[in-house]
Amino acid sequence: MTVAIAWFRRDFRLADNSALRAALDAADTVVPVYIHAPEEDHINGADWQPGAASRWWLHHSLRALKQDLRERGSNLVIRRASDSLQELRMLIEETGAEAVHWNRLYEPHVVARDAKVKKVLGEEGVLAVSHAGCLLHEPTRHMTKQGQPYRVFTPFWKSLEPTLEVDQPLPAPRDIPAPSSWPQRLRVRELDLLPQIDWTSGIAETWAPGEAGAHERLRAFLDEPVKAYKEGRDYPSRDDVSRLSPYLHFGEISPRQVWAATNNEMQAEPGTRRGAASFLRELGWREFAHHVLFHFPHTPDEPMYPKYANFPWREDYAALLQAWQHGETGYPIVDAGMRQLWQEGWMHNRVRMIVASLLVKNLRIPWQEGARWFWDTLVDADLANNTMGWQWAAGCGADAAPYFRIFNPMTQAEKFDTAAYIRKYVPELAALPEKYLFQPWETPAEVQRAKGFKPGRDYPAPVVDYRQSREDALAALKELKKRND
Ligand code: FAD
Repeated sequence: MTVAIAWFRRDFRLADNSALRAALDAADTVVPVYIHAPEEDHINGADWQPGAASRWWLHHSLRALKQDLRERGSNLVIRRASDSLQELRMLIEETGAEAVHWNRLYEPHVVARDAKVKKVLGEEGVLAVSHAGCLLHEPTRHMTKQGQPYRVFTPFWKSLEPTLEVDQPLPAPRDIPAPSSWPQRLRVRELDLLPQIDWTSGIAETWAPGEAGAHERLRAFLDEPVKAYKEGRDYPSRDDVSRLSPYLHFGEISPRQVWAATNNEMQAEPGTRRGAASFLRELGWREFAHHVLFHFPHTPDEPMYPKYANFPWREDYAALLQAWQHGETGYPIVDAGMRQLWQEGWMHNRVRMIVASLLVKNLRIPWQEGARWFWDTLVDADLANNTMGWQWAAGCGADAAPYFRIFNPMTQAEKFDTAAYIRKYVPELAALPEKYLFQPWETPAEVQRAKGFKPGRDYPAPVVDYRQSREDALAALKELKKRND
């Protein structure tokens, strides 16, 4: 009986899983393995272990995967290790496996580790094969005419999209033949992924991690919201976005499955075409973010362009950072976003842009602080997408918003009709008439009396003056230019 290992990493699905399919095709029996090795998540000396919200998701995702495998006569071998290669070698020894199959990931440290795994196992006579599964394109294959990586989204997507050959997704295997005996394995809870003090009830109410949850989400999105997606995606009070980001991050659904299902919907239901095309373009941003991280591996911690490294950030910012993290800046749309993040582990994209702008421009706090907070609190925390989002907001990354373009949180809140969103996440403002909801400090005395609301007592006064902080941000940009001259 031949044995192959299917090494699950962040591809927690049975359908459209090329590595699992290859393992099944290559051997009589398959050992599905997950190795938890967070100490390996170091990039240029910095620690990028999964944050608290990600660990919550991982816990539930592993449980769902294990259950799905059991339903097919198999199981999940969970191991804890400081070195994945050594653990794989032990597993090969214990199971007699002749092959290891996995789906590629593109974070710089994972690329380096996997190259080593492939080399060492190959030298030891084990077939070690990586497969495509997390992206629609291979970052090494799509380059500019000059053979350089892309740095701007539009030419990247314009040249990639028409050439994309997205195969039909693979069906889930009906059975996964089990080995004659199972190697030692941990239970999911032995990985200690859940927090000691449970603050995750809001997250648990919001999300259903796992492959089934991913497909339910996609179906619900394609049934209706997709039609309004093109415009609706900018309005946080509406439910017009897919909320697929954590499922895509953990590989509970593949981009190929999302791509195929969306295209099928466009064919079947012409009313979805406009929204669906816009949605597919967002998947293009995901491709672009991974392309950039792959080719510019220094970007999680450093600006893509070194000239931004000298930016004169504020020096003593601990109290301001804390107010931002806790949703107590006094800017309602920012506080609503930060509280949504804390409660649900997710934030609407438009609001991510607004809160990021306030942090890096009005508060002049380094973007890396914001990226770290998101890393810890987002269930979809993703090194490629998060790095790109933060460098975009700070104006120092690929295809970034220029630093001098500063979002006004009041006009943004009004323009994108965020009243219901603010009332939901900042309940102390819920009774205010819309006129004052976006700038509660302007509430007239008689309205304050009528509503029993006092700015500064019931809701914080703005932590910085918007106009002054805008001036200061622009002055800081001038100072940077001077420093670089
Ligand atoms: P939809 O609008 O339904 O889009 C579908 C999918 O396309 C998303 O699930 C996502 O995979 C991809 N996508 C959409 N927008 C972007 C984008 N701008 N960049 C890259 N991919 C995109 N996204 C993450 O997945 N993880 C992060 O850690 C993350 N951090 C961010 C930080 C900042 C400061 C900003 C401005 C954006 C960040 N984003 C991040 C991108 C974006 O906000 C989320 O992908 C999106 O809000 C997820 O919601 P959705 O699934 O409903 O998206």
